[in-house]
Amino acid sequence: MQDEFIALRVPEGDAFFLKRHEDTGVRRILIDGGAGLKAKYWKYYHAPRESFDQLFIREIGLRPRDSSWDVDVMVCTHNDRDHTEGLIEFFRGGLKAQEVWLPGSFASIIHRFASDPTGALARLAEEVTAIPKEDLAAMKVKAAEQDVSLLDVVAQTLPELESWVKTTEGQSLEMNLYANEPLERISDLLSITAPDLVYTTARYWFDPFYLGRLWHRQSDMLALRSDPLYLELFVSLMELGARVVALSALARQSGATLRWFEFEKKGTPNSLDGEPYLRPLNARELKVVPSSPGPLLLSLSVPNKESLVFHAPATEQNLAVLFSADSNFDFGGTVPWSADMLITAPHHGARVNNRLAARFVIASVRGTVWVRSDGALATQPSPVGAWVRPTPWYINLKGNASLFCTHCNDATTRQTVRLKSVTSSWQPQLATQTCQCS
Ligand SMILES: [Zn+2]
Ligand SMILES: [Zn+2]
Repeated sequence: MQDEFIALRVPEGDAFFLKRHEDTGVRRILIDGGAGLKAKYWKYYHAPRESFDQLFIREIGLRPRDSSWDVDVMVCTHNDRDHTEGLIEFFRGGLKAQEVWLPGSFASIIHRFASDPTGALARLAEEVTAIPKEDLAAMKVKAAEQDVSLLDVVAQTLPELESWVKTTEGQSLEMNLYANEPLERISDLLSITAPDLVYTTARYWFDPFYLGRLWHRQSDMLALRSDPLYLELFVSLMELGARVVALSALARQSGATLRWFEFEKKGTPNSLDGEPYLRPLNARELKVVPSSPGPLLLSLSVPNKESLVFHAPATEQNLAVLFSADSNFDFGGTVPWSADMLITAPHHGARVNNRLAARFVIASVRGTVWVRSDGALATQPSPVGAWVRPTPWYINLKGNASLFCTHCNDATTRQTVRLKSVTSSWQPQLATQTCQCS
């Protein structure tokens, strides 16, 4: 039986589907869901405006007759909107997953927002405005240089800003209430949590009438409004929290079993985590609720490089797949490169540092197949960014490896990428074209 790999043509980001034949039956795996219907890039090119559940049904089909769910395992690799929004639409559209695998950081975020949403937003406002304005301005410049969001730079920089951490420590001890308790506590909490909890609370919290009555909230708002970057950061953090709560609550309430994987930079992952057909390479499966780091801001703004990386191993009947997400592969776990492996291009083929690019070039010599998913506009020069995707390390793989993109940096190649495992290699199907990026 042939395995099937499909890179869905989402407006931005990644959505990868793998249909894998195991002795015990077929496994349908969905890794990320791309950006949602409201993605700003939709308006720039001619594609049907459909939500992810509609796209999924059109490209992959309805659930098999003998199944109660559409995918066996759904994975959310990290909380970027161009990876998670589509997963939220998947559930809103009534589709079902048997299991949903989530980043471990989501567990503490859910607890903090679901038990006290107003308090969590107030905490966020305090934390954001505790960052010195000049530091935030410098981070904004760095973000433009690196072509990443302000949030991404904040996530990378904040742990180093010792003085800032001092102003917020000691405020969050009560947030560790559930630490070391069974993860079912979080699942129970989610079964009664409104998916739009954070948005609803924020609307109320921003309401002038409400603010007029509560002078301390008013002072939080004044502090936020004292610098546009404070407001920008606050709103993006609020949206991060809202996505975590929405995705997890919708998944739980649709009947999915939730499993949690915590990123590990150092150390070797437990080889029994996950399932035999899908193993984490840079994460450990959680058994209890982790104690959350002090500032809420830090648990929300997890940098791209902490994306979860999963590996579907080669067997006698299956070819390997490596799901790179937006990882930079700077982690302790070893990558089991193999000649027949399909690799999803890390971070949409964005710039990586030379040491890590070398790691990929070594891998490509053996004739691997690479699939790159991206947005239509990400391949064009941004007003500020010098880093147009894909960057040369990816294009340079062409000599040794086969490359396929959902959006190439020419004006025409936009496609759903379909590959099938044929004897000993992944082969393009139907009209799937090789990469035209130059
Ligand atoms: Zn991404
Ligand atoms: Zn391409």
